[in-house]
Amino acid sequence: MSVLLGAIADDFTGATDLCNTLVKQGMRAVQVIGVPREPLDIGNAEAVVVALKSRSNPPGDAVSSSLEALSWLRRIGAKQFFFKYCSTFDSTARGNIGPVADALLDALDADFAPVCPAFPANGRTVYQGHLFVGESLLSESAMKDHPLTPMRDSNLVRLMSAQSRRRVGLVDRATVAAGADAVRSAFRALAHSGLGYVVVDAISDDDLLTIGEAAADQVLVTGGSGVALGLPGNFRRRGLLGAPAPARLPAVEGREVVLAGSCSVATRRQLDHVRDTWPCIRLDALRLAEHDVVDEVVERAIEAWNESPVVVYASADPDEVSRAQAALGAERAGAVVEAALAGIARALVERGARRLVVAGGETSGAVVSALGVRGLVIGAEIAPGVPWTHTLGAPGVALALKSGNFGSEDFFARALGMLS
Ligand code: ADP
Repeated sequence: MSVLLGAIADDFTGATDLCNTLVKQGMRAVQVIGVPREPLDIGNAEAVVVALKSRSNPPGDAVSSSLEALSWLRRIGAKQFFFKYCSTFDSTARGNIGPVADALLDALDADFAPVCPAFPANGRTVYQGHLFVGESLLSESAMKDHPLTPMRDSNLVRLMSAQSRRRVGLVDRATVAAGADAVRSAFRALAHSGLGYVVVDAISDDDLLTIGEAAADQVLVTGGSGVALGLPGNFRRRGLLGAPAPARLPAVEGREVVLAGSCSVATRRQLDHVRDTWPCIRLDALRLAEHDVVDEVVERAIEAWNESPVVVYASADPDEVSRAQAALGAERAGAVVEAALAGIARALVERGARRLVVAGGETSGAVVSALGVRGLVIGAEIAPGVPWTHTLGAPGVALALKSGNFGSEDFFARALGMLS
C-alpha cells in the first residue's frame, strides 16, 4: 500500500483534526510537522498531512510553503490532495485560503476544486453558501473578534471570490440532498462553465459523506476536516485501503501542563472551569513585550506542580486583546505571546513535562515547532476534532492540540483524565 491522500493544513490543530477524521474513517494517517528536510519514516501511512503554520503569514510565504509541501507529497506518491483550512474559514482580506488554493490548482495543472469548511459536529454548517457557527452567521459569531483573523462576512462565495483569481459558484443543499451523482454532475457542469471553485452546502455528516463521494476524482479538495469524512470510502471502494490500525498510543508518564494562547470563547470557558482547582499562571501580553518571563514562569510552574496539572495562559477577552494590540500591533502582540508560550513549553518539557494540552491553532504551531517535533501519530479522540497524539521519536510526549473553539467546558480535565 502507498500514500493515497496528501494533505496540506494551514495550522497544526487543523492537521490533527484532519488526521483524526481520516483515522476514524479507517485510514492510516500520519501528521508531519512542516515539510520534512530529512528522510522521515512514515510507516505504512495511507494519508499524510503536512502541518504548516501558514494561516496568518503574508500570502506569498503561505503559497511557497504550501507548494513545497505539495512537491514533497507528490514525491512520496500521493495522488489526491486536500487543502485543509479552518471550519470558520479563518483568513484575512488577502488570503491565505484563496491564494494557496489558486497556487495548488496551478501546480497540479487543474482548474476546479470544491470549497467546504462545514463541520456539523462542531456546529459549523454551510447553507446557501453562508457559513454558520451554531445558530449565528459567522460574521455575528465570536469570530468577528479573533485576534488575527477577524471574520466579518459569512458569504463564502464572496469571501473566496475576493481572495482568489478564479470565479466561484455554489452547489446548494438541494443538490447535495439529491446525492453524490447529482453533486458530481453539478461539479462537471460548473467546471465546464468556467468556474474555478464551488462552495458546497453541508448541514450534516451525511451531506459531507455525499460531497466526499462526489469528489473522488477531484485532484484537489479544499475544506475543513468534515469534508474529508467521505474520502476514505472512495479509496476503500476501489480496494486501495489496508486494514485499519487501532488508534492506540504508547503510555506516557510525566508532568502535565496546559498551555493556552487561544482567546476564543470556548477556551476562556475551559480556563474558567479549572481556574479554582488547578494552579494557573497568567501571561500579560504587554509585559511579555518588555521582559523575558520564561525562566520566571517555569520556576513558578515547577513550584506549583504537585498532583494536579499546571496551566499557563495568555488568553484574554476582546477588550484586553484590543488594548495589547493597540499598544503593540496585532502581529507583534500575537508573536510575543506565541514566543513566550513556546519557550515555556520547551523549558517545561526539559524539566519533565510529558503530557501537554495546547489551546489555539497558532499557539500549537509555535509550541510544536519549539519542541522540535517532526511528526505525530494519532490516538483516541478527546472531543470532536481533537485527538490525543504522540510525537514520532524521542522523547515521547503526549500532545493534545486543540483548535481554539473546540471542546466542552471540561475539556482540559477530560483530556488529561484519559491518560490516567
Ligand atoms: P485560535 O485557535 O483560538 O484561533 P490561535 O492560537 O490560533 O487561537 O490564535 C490566537 C492568537 O492570539 C495567537 O497568535 C496568540 O498569540 C494571540 N494572543 C493570545 N493572547 C493574547 C493577548 N492577551 N493579547 C493579544 N494577543 C493574544
